[in-house]
Amino acid sequence: MLSLTAGGKRRQKNKFFTLKEHKNCDMCLMPFNQDPGVRDTDNYCSYCHHDGELSYKGNDVREFKAMTYQQMRKRGINWPMAKFFTFMIGFAPYWKRVKRER
Ligand SMILES: [Zn+2]
Repeated sequence: MLSLTAGGKRRQKNKFFTLKEHKNCDMCLMPFNQDPGVRDTDNYCSYCHHDGELSYKGNDVREFKAMTYQQMRKRGINWPMAKFFTFMIGFAPYWKRVKRER
């Protein structure tokens, strides 16, 4: 019976999680606080989305990973880190959506 009376407080706590803001790019998972450019959307970094559209318009995650890897190496990120970030792209919300639509 005790659990029934505690319901009201728990609901308020959950609200905190739904208000969570985006902290990483939906497409390449780059943290926004490391983005040197100016973002024009809330969901994508300035590399993946600029001038009002996505920079990469294909739906091949492997191709996108290869491009991103090259871009990171050019920005001076060492290859083990670049490999790791590239691997993580497979778990980005954008690519999960693409997988589901196929
Ligand atoms: Zn991005």
